[in-house]
Amino acid sequence: MQFTKLRLSGFKSFVEPTDFVIHPGLTGVVGPNGCGKSNLVEALRWVMGENSAKRMRGSGMDDMIFAGTATRPARNIAEVTLTLDNKTRTAPAAFNEQEVVEITRKIEREKGSDYSINGNDVRMRDVQLLFADLASGANSPAMVSQGRVGALINAKPTDRRMLLEEAAGISGLHSRRHEAELRLKAAESNLERVVDVIGQLDNQLQSLKRQARQASRYRNIAGQIRKTEAILYHLKHAALKQALADAEHALEAADRQVADRTLQVSEAHEAERIAAEALPPLRQHEAEAGAR
Ligand code: ATP
Repeated sequence: MQFTKLRLSGFKSFVEPTDFVIHPGLTGVVGPNGCGKSNLVEALRWVMGENSAKRMRGSGMDDMIFAGTATRPARNIAEVTLTLDNKTRTAPAAFNEQEVVEITRKIEREKGSDYSINGNDVRMRDVQLLFADLASGANSPAMVSQGRVGALINAKPTDRRMLLEEAAGISGLHSRRHEAELRLKAAESNLERVVDVIGQLDNQLQSLKRQARQASRYRNIAGQIRKTEAILYHLKHAALKQALADAEHALEAADRQVADRTLQVSEAHEAERIAAEALPPLRQHEAEAGAR
């Protein structure tokens, strides 16, 4: 991967959009003191995810935005885009499909920075990881700033380890290991929470099991009660049906008796009438017989 272009707009002294083209081989920037040479290197570190304003010679990240001069007003936005040539297809897998990888960092006054890679919004971490995988980055020993050569020569062997690790191309792995450790810790604390929740759910399960047992016993007993009541009502119904049939028979017999008695009464009335009809001549005879 080759750095091919750095585009600055509103960054520190680069108020107008400026393309800084980096050709293969050695590229030098020559200019008088205070013309903005270090600002260029800072723009490079800034777009790589530098998050210390102090290391960028500012008191806050808003100091990266053009602050204005006696003749020009200040800006509210600064943007730096670094273009990488990926013809050799050596970019990390996530970005290896495109021939050109463009990393952009944009800052708005009092709103903080946004990052994007090839137009897609990404986290600062993704940009830092991309450069760590390319053995580069804002704090990488590959970026040798003023006074750093002497410091490296005089550094203790342990301090040179970072340089050697980067030369070996494993600094991306280190930063991934750190991220993996953080994720592992988060997963562990999640696991603890899950164990707690499982404990709580277990208690609930026991109580629900108890309730389910009670409900099933209630259902069985209610079923038995319903069956017994049905038998009881059936028996009552049969007994009442029998009583009704008996009463109907008794009614029929009584009706028959009433008819018999009514017949007897009418026969008696007839006999009485006949006897009453026979009575006057008999009385006549009796009177005549008495007179005689
Ligand atoms: P030297 O050779 O002395 O190290 P240099 O060429 O590296 O200088 P820089 O230090 O990169 O120059 O640039 C400093 C210039 O950038 C100063 O003139 C300063 O006024 C200007 N500058 C820094 N921050 C801002 C800002 N936020 N807005 C406008 N100008 C700024």
